Amino acid sequence: MKITILGSGGVLGIPTWACNCNVCKSEDKRNQRTRPSILVESSGKKILVDIGPDFREQMLKHKIKNLDYCLITHAHGDHTSSMAELQLAKNLQLLIPEKVTEKLKQIRSHMFTYLPSRDPSIKIKNFSPLKIGNLSIDMIEVTHEKDYEDFTPCYGYLFEENGKRVAYIPDLEKVIDMEKMKNLDIFICDGGVIKPLWGHLGVDKAIELFKEIKAKQMIFTHLTHRISHKDLEDYVSKHGNIKVAYDGMVIEV
Ligand SMILES: [Zn+2]
Ligand SMILES: [Zn+2]
Ligand SMILES: [Zn+2]
Repeated sequence: MKITILGSGGVLGIPTWACNCNVCKSEDKRNQRTRPSILVESSGKKILVDIGPDFREQMLKHKIKNLDYCLITHAHGDHTSSMAELQLAKNLQLLIPEKVTEKLKQIRSHMFTYLPSRDPSIKIKNFSPLKIGNLSIDMIEVTHEKDYEDFTPCYGYLFEENGKRVAYIPDLEKVIDMEKMKNLDIFICDGGVIKPLWGHLGVDKAIELFKEIKAKQMIFTHLTHRISHKDLEDYVSKHGNIKVAYDGMVIEV
């Protein structure tokens, strides 16, 4: 499978609006980050995970003209706000975990009638584990930010092909489905903050988790302007095979 990091930024992207910090002003292209999304390609199919505010720019930049599947991790705007643009997809399956669907129906309910009305070939379904050629996809339940009284239902995805296992969890406080985190070749993980904050576990705890599950490699994504690419790379590389994502990074597994 081939994974392209379309967006390695967090909710605000970098450069961040109304900010004059050194990371936002940096000329290092790796510090220019769009909102979080990946494209997974396998068996001739294109699978998008999350569709945030920079979807259009990401599709144009990478010349992606069609999508077969779109998976959603959770209902926050940085992961869902461009859903309306899926009206241009043909024969797309939009797959959303049931608890996330319930949340989305509270805040973006019109999408569930709007998209099929624009293109009846679009199918919106509750996610259940699926197989596409040799690729298996499963969801990984995690905890994330508490919105008012409720935790926002939130998931990562596990991609497995020919014995290689990759987990993508862009927003994460604690993994609930720990069983699914075994024998990972690559763990692409929330790295937006160093210490725990607002439903994000923080880089230090993520490194503890990486060591606990003994993944072969970790890649941090969902990054913010709090720390530069170079400084984060220097910070994490002491702890093993850990890299920092950038927009356009390609991972072949
Ligand atoms: Zn997010
Ligand atoms: Zn900044
Ligand atoms: Zn979130």
